[in-house]
Amino acid sequence: MNVKNIKSFIEFYESLGVSTFLTQLERSSISHKSLKIEKIKEKSSNDKHFLDDKAAKLSILKKKIEQTECGLKDIASNLVFSDGNYNAKIMLIGEAPGAEEDKDGKPFVGEAGKLLDKMLDCIYLKRSKNFYITNIIFWRPPGNRIPNNQEINICLPFVKEHINIINPQLIIPLGNIAARSLLNTDQGITKIRGKNFFYVDYENNLKIETIPIFHPAYLLRNPIEKKYMWEDLKKIYKFTKERKIL
Ligand code: URA
Repeated sequence: MNVKNIKSFIEFYESLGVSTFLTQLERSSISHKSLKIEKIKEKSSNDKHFLDDKAAKLSILKKKIEQTECGLKDIASNLVFSDGNYNAKIMLIGEAPGAEEDKDGKPFVGEAGKLLDKMLDCIYLKRSKNFYITNIIFWRPPGNRIPNNQEINICLPFVKEHINIINPQLIIPLGNIAARSLLNTDQGITKIRGKNFFYVDYENNLKIETIPIFHPAYLLRNPIEKKYMWEDLKKIYKFTKERKIL
């Protein structure tokens, strides 16, 4: 039926006082529409379940860590678990909480954290949106001493579980302790920064690109090294552009 015929067909029925009618076409298009709406609803509910699932897994992990025996736990004020967006594609991993973090129960809230946020902001990475951050050690070592092997070995299985839950596309270890613990290397951060690595977890079938960088506290003590940090930030920026993960 062409347009002219449809028009006169409708006019004919209007002249009989008929104002509404159903056709096969109308019914099927309605059912298509409602099917589409159902599909959208189903997808958003799946996404929501996925997010809820992630949040639930993180809260279970945190509880497990709380119940773990570690000498540091008895002297720390708080467990320092994580901060940032757990749905982000970038995961930063530092060493251990300092005094400010111990007080707040959040990682990287002191001077080093402020410098880190400022540097990442230069490449458009915001903590609240684009990255998730944690540490290798969940409690503050007294006097900010370097964590020992026993403390690292207690925390590392939880860090691996943490990575598995977040499942990021990029891991950024901050400084020696994080890089050595995650990359199974004895080399210092000065040697390995600027190079590309993979974090590999056979148990969970994970192989994640990793860019180790200097710890921001090291940069506060050695500002001359910031020029290397700039190179590393450019590398991270390139990665985010190539993977379209911003
Ligand atoms: N240094 C770290 O490695 N982690 C923190 O949370 C704070 C300072």
